[in-house]
Amino acid sequence: MSGVDCVKAMTNLDDYLKRELTPELMVEVRQHIERCRECFEHARFEENFLIMLETRASRETCPGKLRARILALLRAEAEDH
Ligand SMILES: [Zn+2]
Repeated sequence: MSGVDCVKAMTNLDDYLKRELTPELMVEVRQHIERCRECFEHARFEENFLIMLETRASRETCPGKLRARILALLRAEAEDH
């Protein structure tokens, strides 16, 4: 018997995605998300949002010059073949 309902699942969603819940709660929230379509869609949206934030953060720490060099290398490589 699971003690996680939609409200509890959504309350813990952020910590669940960051894997900061207790192992017991991780399992309970995951089981609810797998069973509940509404929470599943919400969890997927939140997860994509977190990934997007991480991607953007790593892109901003990548210096523009280095990025240009990598692009030039890739372009030269593509022309070789
Ligand atoms: Zn739900």
